[in-house]
Amino acid sequence: MRDADFFRRWLDAAAAAVEREADRLTELDSPIGDADHGSNLLRGFVAVRAALAGADASAPPGALLQLAGRTLISTVGGASGPLYGTLLRRTGKELGEAAEVSDEQVREALDAGVDAVARLGGAAPGDKTMLDALVPGVAALATSYADAADAADAGAVATTPMLARKGRASYLGERSIGHQDPGATSSALLLRALADAAGG
Ligand code: ADP
Ligand code: MG
Ligand code: MG
Repeated sequence: MRDADFFRRWLDAAAAAVEREADRLTELDSPIGDADHGSNLLRGFVAVRAALAGADASAPPGALLQLAGRTLISTVGGASGPLYGTLLRRTGKELGEAAEVSDEQVREALDAGVDAVARLGGAAPGDKTMLDALVPGVAALATSYADAADAADAGAVATTPMLARKGRASYLGERSIGHQDPGATSSALLLRALADAAGG
């Protein structure tokens, strides 16, 4: 079973990964975006860290994820803020009030979270967005957290030859081909952080 501490470790590892990789995420957002993905997420996850530090020590997993999601929505101006915020809010809502949840519940909740991202953004796998890492990543959770992280990494790499159909990169049309999607890259970081929290 996974308790609130597991989810705190996940979000903490995610914040650390964003801090470490912010420059690379912004570089990936230069040729096919507006060069702010790293700074957007950095601002968001610094605020998430602060929000979690201030959260009640007895807050259950669902409440922590909803708090993190609300924090991303209110602090990140770019497209990724509402999308990642929705991912965490919806996942947290699915987990409800339970103090501990099973890995199966985590998988089902994240699945609902990814569905909510797809509905909000109107994107599908193959459109060269964060969904290209999130969808295969969460599907591979059925096997293990480590497999989920590997599948998300592979999904992010696989966005390079894709033509962007959603978000700013889609304005470039054919010129979006040949660049890895920044949001798919950060999604892979989030699932790697989850695997780290789970101990691999
Ligand atoms: P902005 O594009 O507003 O500057 P960011 O640079 O922070 O926002 O985030 C860009 C990332 O958001 C893209 O790389 C892509 O993965 C993701 N994204 C953009 N639009 C969508 C969408 N409609 N659905 C899913 N993901 C999207
Ligand atoms: Mg951007
Ligand atoms: Mg922007």
